[in-house]
Amino acid sequence: MGFLKSIGGVLAALLVLTGCGNDTAESDNGNGKLDVVTTTGMIGDLVENIGGKHVEVSSLMGPGVDPHLYKATQGDVKTLDSADMIFYNGLHLEGKMTDIFEMMSKDKPTIAVTEDFKENQLRKVGATEHDPHVWFDVKLWIVAAEAVKKELIAKDPDHEAEYRENYEEYVLQLEELDKYVHEEINKVPEDQRVLVTAHDAFGYYGQSYGLDVRGLQGINTLSEYGSKDVTDMRNYLVENKIKAIFIESSVPRKAIEAVIQGAGKQGHKVEIGGELFSDAMGERGTEEGTYIGMVRHNTDTIVRALK
Ligand SMILES: [Zn+2]
Repeated sequence: MGFLKSIGGVLAALLVLTGCGNDTAESDNGNGKLDVVTTTGMIGDLVENIGGKHVEVSSLMGPGVDPHLYKATQGDVKTLDSADMIFYNGLHLEGKMTDIFEMMSKDKPTIAVTEDFKENQLRKVGATEHDPHVWFDVKLWIVAAEAVKKELIAKDPDHEAEYRENYEEYVLQLEELDKYVHEEINKVPEDQRVLVTAHDAFGYYGQSYGLDVRGLQGINTLSEYGSKDVTDMRNYLVENKIKAIFIESSVPRKAIEAVIQGAGKQGHKVEIGGELFSDAMGERGTEEGTYIGMVRHNTDTIVRALK
């Protein structure tokens, strides 16, 4: 009996030793939670809602940060390196981090939340590119939620039941949100359902909820807008008698101001309809600091300005 016990003890010690240095399901943060790092705050919010108390989430890109231009710092690389799992958007939203994701994927799950999206769910831009701003179609964000649920279960099957339960609960909230946006946008007169913003982040939003969407800059913010873009946009506003255009929290506002000035010179008054949260959420603790709050804020702002 004593002999068996001591053998058992030696085996346990060996297991602990060989466990060292390996990435096991439970991380080394000492609290038994999965250490998850995400790029955008929207993805961080999604993982928190589905992971619940079994995950510790940190997001690299805070309020006001533009993911198209974001380059990982040395500190980010350390953070990513010590994570148990990484979730990012994909579809080249984080265009300057591709190499890092590839590197990280060699020793830990490094997952694009858009991995299971079907071709026909994505907006095509040009011949080969896809619009990455999928979170503004709430129904599509449910597809991303599904991927997060699946990957959390794969990494940490012990808590499968809870991940499923959290997912079901959150999906109900998202379905309610989707309904809310439809109802609110329907309050805007049809000929005023035009959403003009600094860059093309709202294509999915427009497609799902019935607005024409125009961005001064294209699908990403990598290329600077030119004076022709400003003139074209000005003409568009004047011709269509658009009353309000919107600034974005993660894009400098000077482009939009140039357009407003141009329209003013032609005798057409355009107002700033408000600030939208496009590629980054608001501060933690504010309404816009959650995904649901951000979509509601944007919708309320748009409806108030265009109604
Ligand atoms: Zn964008």
